[in-house]
Amino acid sequence: MLYSQQVFLVAGLSRSGISASEFLVSRGAKVYIYDDVDDANVRAAVERLEGIGCFNVKKEDLPDVTDRCDVLVLSPGIPVDHPLPVSFKRAGKRIIGEAELGALNLHCPCIAVTGTNGKTTTVSLIESVFKAAGKSGIACGNVGRPLTSCLKELGEDGVAIAEISSFQLETLYSLRPHVAVVLNVTEDHLNRHYNMENYIYLKSRLLKNSAESEFAVLNYDDPIVRTFAEKTKAKVIWFSLRERVDGAYIQDGSFCWFGEKLFSVEDLALDGEHNRANALAAIAAARLMGIGNTAIQTAFKTFRGVKHRIEKVGEVNGVTFIDDSKATNVDSAIKAVNSVRGESVLLLGGKDKGYSYEPLFEALKTSGVVHAVIYGENAFRILNAALKVGYTAVTLCRPFDLAVRVAYLIAEKGQNVLLSPASASFDAFASYEERGKRFCELMEMFRKEARPPFDVAEDHSGEDE
Ligand code: ADP
Repeated sequence: MLYSQQVFLVAGLSRSGISASEFLVSRGAKVYIYDDVDDANVRAAVERLEGIGCFNVKKEDLPDVTDRCDVLVLSPGIPVDHPLPVSFKRAGKRIIGEAELGALNLHCPCIAVTGTNGKTTTVSLIESVFKAAGKSGIACGNVGRPLTSCLKELGEDGVAIAEISSFQLETLYSLRPHVAVVLNVTEDHLNRHYNMENYIYLKSRLLKNSAESEFAVLNYDDPIVRTFAEKTKAKVIWFSLRERVDGAYIQDGSFCWFGEKLFSVEDLALDGEHNRANALAAIAAARLMGIGNTAIQTAFKTFRGVKHRIEKVGEVNGVTFIDDSKATNVDSAIKAVNSVRGESVLLLGGKDKGYSYEPLFEALKTSGVVHAVIYGENAFRILNAALKVGYTAVTLCRPFDLAVRVAYLIAEKGQNVLLSPASASFDAFASYEERGKRFCELMEMFRKEARPPFDVAEDHSGEDE
């Protein structure tokens, strides 16, 4: 791309849109910016970007500006069948994502991680391993640091540890990771990708540029991911919780790598089988990048997980509150209920993404969940699924604040209130982070209510002894 001679339209002004605009301006491009949301965040972004020379576009001027632009930089939040990208496509113009812009300008090796669940945990864990090894690796991409914002820091000597979502894969063409990791593929985002075939195809695109000289780290236990081995030219390295594979696996309570016993699985500070799978993927990526066991073991011992992922946030009156707000699909909620210790009252609901909730209730029957409190826009779809599979320990209750209170009232001392909603947050919140934050605020509120109205110093003066 000849930035100084081309005109760009950046659509969607969240973190990645801001970063893409800044990158393009730094390369001398003319940049128009657009977002059809008008809230405080977007207004702040517009102000910041106008300050560096971008031109904000009003909705009514969009067709006109579209004619003048050569390239559309599309936010991952906007689907490719939205009228704006469709108009660019019709005109035969290029549509790219911020990640593509990053990939085109990346001068260092890349580990790319995709999958339905576990991406953020795995890239963060790999980053910790790099830190423990004293090497420069940066977790970037969907994890919250856009790739274009890390290019300078990465230079030629760093390693980009990029989390790549299916939304990003829609407009990512040039990335050629040295190590491409696919963690799992289960039902998610069907409201955006229409069907599983499309979703699976998008996930497999992470491997499409790889040659024999690169590696594909694939989950042997996932029947969909296993088929990806046939779709890539990369050398396949497996990881498995159940079998001794060519790659990373568990045997006799130890993590192993191609026949070599590394260290005990107990050294992993994270709980849950799913996190052991993430750890195996991280081992494979680290070893393929030449990192030794000591650094891996050190990082595993100290890495405590990422916020809003099965995070114990506090205790009120003997009830433990667990924030797993990032569990926005059925499989992630199943993994959460299977890994949380003890009995739980589960909070479920939010914005529907088009999949079936029945497998979740089947899983609840044999889990430590004693009751499900259902809320949110999809409450009746979830309730239907519960009743269909004969799971009746449910209460339907809206809105969110009330549902959390009811869950707390139902929970007995020693039990958990687990927010693992199997749904997106956008029916009532700006993000899963906001939902998790509200959950914690409510917990604090209950804590205050639980205290006596005022502290009375014990006064024995009037007592008759
Ligand atoms: P992602 O970035 O892919 O959304 P995260 O690492 O943020 O994944 O984890 C999101 C949620 O998914 C977690 O709260 C947990 O409940 C669940 N989870 C994490 N790792 C896995 C995995 N390997 N398989 C299934 N579910 C997982």
